[in-house]
Amino acid sequence: MALIERLVRLETPSDDKAANDRMADMLQREMHDLLDCRTDVIETRDHGNHLAVRMGSGPRQILILGHFDTVHPVGSLARSPFRIEDGRLFGPGVLDMKAGIAQAMFALHALQQDRYGRETVPYRVVFLLSSDEEVGSPSSRPLLLREAGQSDSCFVLEPAAGAQAALKTGRKGVATYRVTAHGKAAHAGLNVADGRNAIAEIAHQILALQALNDDVRGVTVNCGLVHGGVAKNTVPDTARLVVDGRAPDPEAADEIDARLRALSPATAGTRLEVRGGFSRPPMPETADTRALLCLAQDLMRRIDRDITGIAVGGASDANDVAAHVPTLDGLGAVGAGAHTPGEYVLADHLTERAALLAALVDRCGRPEHAALRKSE
Ligand SMILES: [Zn+2]
Repeated sequence: MALIERLVRLETPSDDKAANDRMADMLQREMHDLLDCRTDVIETRDHGNHLAVRMGSGPRQILILGHFDTVHPVGSLARSPFRIEDGRLFGPGVLDMKAGIAQAMFALHALQQDRYGRETVPYRVVFLLSSDEEVGSPSSRPLLLREAGQSDSCFVLEPAAGAQAALKTGRKGVATYRVTAHGKAAHAGLNVADGRNAIAEIAHQILALQALNDDVRGVTVNCGLVHGGVAKNTVPDTARLVVDGRAPDPEAADEIDARLRALSPATAGTRLEVRGGFSRPPMPETADTRALLCLAQDLMRRIDRDITGIAVGGASDANDVAAHVPTLDGLGAVGAGAHTPGEYVLADHLTERAALLAALVDRCGRPEHAALRKSE
């Protein structure tokens, strides 16, 4: 909890390079204080630096993914300071995912100190900590994918799902589309017939797009931002719409993409321009993730605990790596309110979650654990 407090007290919004650089340095020191490991700070120009932590040696490689950036702007800590009340740890980014990082550090510490003692951990562990996950991992993605391609299993430290503290075995892919309608300006009284109303055109498109929502298939299309017009008495020549699209599997993602690209104007004399696409691919539930979930359930049963896995609508780095390595997400802290000022972590679960991660890493890292070989 002292480590979590130190991490929370250094605020790290994704867009603050200096703050995230300081966090990469701080975590590097913390890693060396706790672990016998090699660390590299990976410098980036437009985002905060990233940190790669490596330990052990052997034929297999286990990847752990975390991010230390948060969605909370600087100043959030002053309004919602780090505190512990009734077994809950509060503070900006404590759940997503500074507590998860601390859990993983102590999981690796347990493996190194308690499981193997003076021996070297008999597999490679790569713990990647990035500074730009909350803005879609633009600068860390190549690094994540490179390590994913060389790993046998991957565990992601995003928060557990909901009150039942479920693991995350599937995630929707996420798309952003910017739809612009081009019309023709005119005076609303003098020559309205010469005008082509771009806002009216966007309104048609909004209704058509909202109709693509499909509860059964888990497809969501949300027209979330609209902007248009210059004055009440001017026929607007431009209107812009930003759409969030989500799909649980690649087929549904392709379908949404095709529908968006095929949009055609409903109003004569207007033109549509569509930009964007999927920034995170879907992470469908696969046999690989189910095998990792079964292993986690097996391990939890030994301490008389149940654990489930669920598919969720939000995306994470797991979306990007899951196509390259068997991946299980939701191994971070247990709590609620992620991305809100009231987010908290349940202190009671910290040790158990760290132990679960340690046991999973160890089972998947040992060469005799052949059942979870990458299925090519
Ligand atoms: Zn997160």
